[in-house]
Amino acid sequence: MYLKDSKTVVVKIGSSLLIDKDKKIRVKWLSEFAKDIKNLKNLKKNIIIVSSGAIALGCKKLKLSKKNLKLDKSQAVASIGQIELMNLFKEFFSPKKINLSQILLTLEDTEKRRRAINAKRTFENLFSLGFVPIVNENDSIATSEIKYGDNDRLASRVAQISGADCLILLSDVEGLYTKNPKINKEAILIKEISTIDDKIEKIATKSISEHGTGGMKTKIDAAKVCQLSGCHMAIANGLVHRPITATFDNS
Ligand code: GLU
Repeated sequence: MYLKDSKTVVVKIGSSLLIDKDKKIRVKWLSEFAKDIKNLKNLKKNIIIVSSGAIALGCKKLKLSKKNLKLDKSQAVASIGQIELMNLFKEFFSPKKINLSQILLTLEDTEKRRRAINAKRTFENLFSLGFVPIVNENDSIATSEIKYGDNDRLASRVAQISGADCLILLSDVEGLYTKNPKINKEAILIKEISTIDDKIEKIATKSISEHGTGGMKTKIDAAKVCQLSGCHMAIANGLVHRPITATFDNS
């Protein structure tokens, strides 16, 4: 399958994979995920991780609820949580000798050609140094008008500017269903989609999870960006341990 032939892979993880409903860090998941990334590194692939979680971890540290958080406050919370997020990655990735770097992007960075070219060069230099960049939106700087708001779209832009062959969106759902599987028993998982058409867009209704902001709509928007740049995209259930192995091993 296409992961095998991909040189550059972007993996996006949502906040709900890092923190559970009781606001506990998913320690076991993180250490298994680090093994997944190590496997890809051993296969000499360039990896970029797009991770949410700054606001969720900031809220955890400050003992705040994410609900009703005003924009200016959430920007401060994101600034506090971002360092927690990187510490978390460092804690689980360093023992596996995976070197990490951090890149915070705004919408403008990916849409203005000069800035996008600059970001591309930074990714390339990090790859040649053998580092895995961890990307998040620069939540503390971006205002509501210029915000991505969700990391699905950000991840698709990162895949586009880095020339990635494959984007994996790890979330708490298996993929796109014909109907909302949370309320419809007869919902069927759509295994493969070759073109995003009106029919697909219509069934991608918004779904909201505890910590993240992205739903199916944003995932399909991300797929549209990938479609334009010739990048494959997978939506996979990240809640299992070593989700990349679980998704791609039997495909
Ligand atoms: N950038 C936000 C954060 O790190 C999350 C956006 C999202 O949920 O997709 O907290």
